[in-house]
Amino acid sequence: MTRQGLLIVISGPSGAGKGTICQGLLQNNKDMCLSVSCTTRAPRPGEKHGVNYFFVGKPHFEQMIANNQLLEYAKVYDNYYGTPRQYVEEKLAMGMDVILEIDIQGALQVKQKYPQGVLIFVVPPALSLLKERLTKRGTDSLETIANRLRCVCEELSNTGRYDYLVINDTVENALDQAEAIIKAEKCRPSRFDITKFLDC
Ligand code: 5GP
Repeated sequence: MTRQGLLIVISGPSGAGKGTICQGLLQNNKDMCLSVSCTTRAPRPGEKHGVNYFFVGKPHFEQMIANNQLLEYAKVYDNYYGTPRQYVEEKLAMGMDVILEIDIQGALQVKQKYPQGVLIFVVPPALSLLKERLTKRGTDSLETIANRLRCVCEELSNTGRYDYLVINDTVENALDQAEAIIKAEKCRPSRFDITKFLDC
């Protein structure tokens, strides 16, 4: 029988570099996949439906909640975001590791439903870098950036509820740390069926 895959949650403030770390993990690990979330927010320039998000209307999203089709969901910056349940459950059952790049509200819901899931919080080495990264990215208005930075302090006060903290000083270091965490998590005795080793 295939061993269940690992559910990996990656959170952190906008501009902390979560997306880059997720892409690095996916490139280096063939048995890993990324869950594409549903959202009611409008696509940013260059974003594609089914790749970055499934962009849906509010009634559609609320129908998904009512049908229990979401593993978790949350309202972030006035928009709904949620993880489609079926995709995640199927991939885990196939033995694939699944990454969810979601906010803290969603992460805590996941931990309740999947205590064996691993929660990783990514932070930049200094807060001043966040503003710089968000401004350089050029995808958000100044008002949105200001709003996001206001939420960061609250987000940071919740890092203790995560299993691991990764400081993204360089992409290489952060990726190394994330991979080390995942490797170590896979060696937890609770993830093995120990009876399989009792063949003597
Ligand atoms: P953005 O609009 O910048 O793509 O994402 C805003 C925030 O929503 C980010 O913190 C992101 O991690 C979070 N997010 C994206 N997808 C989901 C999801 O499916 N569930 C939850 N709870 N948060 C999500």
